[in-house]
Amino acid sequence: MARWAYVNGRYLPHAQATVHVEDRGFQFADGVYEVVTILDGRFADLDGHMERLGRSLAELRMDWPAAPRVVERILRELARRNGLVNGSIYLQITRGVAPRDFKFPANAKPTLVMTAKRVAAFAKPEQLEQGVAVITVPDIRWGRRDIKTVGLLAPVLAKQQAAESGAYEAWLVDSDGTVTEGSSSNAWIVTGAGTLVTRPPSHAILNGITRLSLLRLAAERGIPVEERPFTVEEALSAREAFVSSAGTFALPVTRIDGRPVGDGKPGAVTMALRQAYLDYAKGSTAA
Ligand code: PMP
Repeated sequence: MARWAYVNGRYLPHAQATVHVEDRGFQFADGVYEVVTILDGRFADLDGHMERLGRSLAELRMDWPAAPRVVERILRELARRNGLVNGSIYLQITRGVAPRDFKFPANAKPTLVMTAKRVAAFAKPEQLEQGVAVITVPDIRWGRRDIKTVGLLAPVLAKQQAAESGAYEAWLVDSDGTVTEGSSSNAWIVTGAGTLVTRPPSHAILNGITRLSLLRLAAERGIPVEERPFTVEEALSAREAFVSSAGTFALPVTRIDGRPVGDGKPGAVTMALRQAYLDYAKGSTAA
């Protein structure tokens, strides 16, 4: 089936989907985005992603390109046109096209772009059987990581370093030694006592929509939860570690900087939460 994209009111073949060179997303990273996963024909956490999109726009004093329900309708239509059963929609809104000037343009129209991607498998069998490796790198990002902006150069460099080290993800470490989050995921541990630990929402991290659902699913299952920062040392002495994001759900982390976490195998709490999320997502809004 052909791959379709959406650009400012038009559905186009993916290869022909383009924006102007003076789009502020291109020149200033003056834009925000969301990635929504479609699992077995259902949008996972669509309401959460739409809500966070509105929050990101408001924080940057950007306008919706159309009413939220219209944006949602386009998202559904693009999924339909692409025949997406398992995959994701990437949605980006920028402040629009205007002559290059740092200040907000007086009357630019926001740019709305969506692309669709099919996913054959959300995780490779070996990632679930053996877990993935992470490296740790200093968190050199800006001070408003709670806004999901397309300014992603620091995460790009971190992920590249992880890949060159043979690792799946980079955990970003603040100057105080605590882990903020992954380059494109939230970071979690399960302590020796069985408590689930992840950093509380603040300007220091992106409040993952998957993170919020996992917290709720954990609470429903009676798993003790502490929202607090943890250090790399604490993660290394934890029983389990994992990352979460829209496309990875909960993915076990079994090595940090080449050293094993717990017994070096994916943990029971991690895998139970992954399954809980998949069950929850499969029961949500039809795509
Ligand atoms: N933190 C960062 C920095 C991210 O880029 C992402 C994924 N976009 C996440 C956390 C996870 O967020 P979500 O669960 O909403 O995908």
